[in-house]
Amino acid sequence: MTVRSVLIVGGGFTGLTAAIALAQRGVEQVTLVERAPAWARVGHGVTLQGNALKVFKDIGVLDQVLAKGFAEDEGVTLFFQDGRVMMQLKTPRTGGEDLPPTIGALRPDLHEALLKRAEALGVEIRLGTELVSFDNHGDQASTLLSDGTTEFWDLVIVADGIKSQTRPKLGITQDRGPSGLGIWRAVTTRLPHMRGGIAFPFGEGSGAYKVGYTPVSDTHCYIFVLCPPQRVDNGLPDWQEVKRLMADYHGDFDYLRESITEDTFLNFQEIEWIFVPAPWHQGRVIALGEAVHAVPPLIAQGAAQCVEDAAILAEYVTQPGDLEEQFAAFYERRIPRIKGVVDASMQLADWELHPGAPEADPGRVMAEALIALVPPA
Ligand SMILES: Cc1cc2nc3c(=O)[nH]c(=O)nc-3n(C[C@H](O)[C@H](O)[C@H](O)COP(=O)(O)OP(=O)(O)OC[C@H]3O[C@@H](n4cnc5c(N)ncnc54)[C@H](O)[C@@H]3O)c2cc1C
Repeated sequence: MTVRSVLIVGGGFTGLTAAIALAQRGVEQVTLVERAPAWARVGHGVTLQGNALKVFKDIGVLDQVLAKGFAEDEGVTLFFQDGRVMMQLKTPRTGGEDLPPTIGALRPDLHEALLKRAEALGVEIRLGTELVSFDNHGDQASTLLSDGTTEFWDLVIVADGIKSQTRPKLGITQDRGPSGLGIWRAVTTRLPHMRGGIAFPFGEGSGAYKVGYTPVSDTHCYIFVLCPPQRVDNGLPDWQEVKRLMADYHGDFDYLRESITEDTFLNFQEIEWIFVPAPWHQGRVIALGEAVHAVPPLIAQGAAQCVEDAAILAEYVTQPGDLEEQFAAFYERRIPRIKGVVDASMQLADWELHPGAPEADPGRVMAEALIALVPPA
């Protein structure tokens, strides 16, 4: 085994998956530091595709994840904004025939499943602790943490997200940039027949580029409203602003809009993106996940690509061999797959902004991008 002690920085999907995969493969000391002083207990919905579920199966959390989420076999229904059905879009089984093509779930539920598995495998978790700096010393890297301790590790995995402050310290010059898109998300109730859909506008209307929802349980779903990146300054409270953006959408979307109240959990954020071609490491410190690739969630592959990174890196570094060679093999396997997701997502983002583009063909690009992910990562 190349590594026996690993520090992981960041307790999102990437960091927790890496911690579990390494501990499961027998790495003696796996420690995860997370800046937040406590784990969030409420949060948004997320759509996970089969290839993410395949990783969750491999790291031993599939049953818990499926129990928390809502699996959908029929794909997603596309609607006109007046509520008429446009078409049914089948989602390919990117995780293999034995796994659902997608599930919807609440992020804190998934997080809890990962956390429990990590703790059961003996991962040491330190909350409220940040990576301050690191140094490489040949066959080990040292880290200075915010609690003042300096420690030595065989490997440091930096999974500190799209706003990574470690990225430039690894000599990576690329930075996150605007995608031109913003998004509102809300968690609310749904009716039993509502199995997931996206509605497209006829024209400018309220300013929403599109509106969609994904079930996260038998009774609830999360709604997203894709829109310009700056929140409109119109004096409306957030919940009324989301209702205003959804006002032109009918059919099932009337129910969803009316279910939003001032107590609904919702938020707005600008969507940014980044893609860093390899290398992602310096010496024994490597960045993974959204620290090095993040895209607008237009084919719902962000988290899937993050957890694939984590599981596959763990495969390499727990074999005997030279770490530099293992990183090189890892990049060779990961970069083309991630680049396919980035290119498709950014093309789709561009067509959201320029829907009249003569070559715009989002259905084809989405389908091709997902079919390309059917072969295992
Ligand atoms: C609006 C939106 C919708 C999305 N929807 C989907 C979807 O439906 N399906 C999907 O697959 N993907 C989706 N994604 C993408 C997905 O959310 C991300 O790819 C994934 O959550 C990234 O995980 P991560 O662990 O790499 O980063 P993060 O989740 O950002 O985790 C990074 C962690 O590191 C911690 N941290 C930061 N700096 C330090 C430090 N110095 N020391 C210690 N800890 C630190 C942070 O507190 C954080 O907990 C969406 C993204 C957005 C923006």
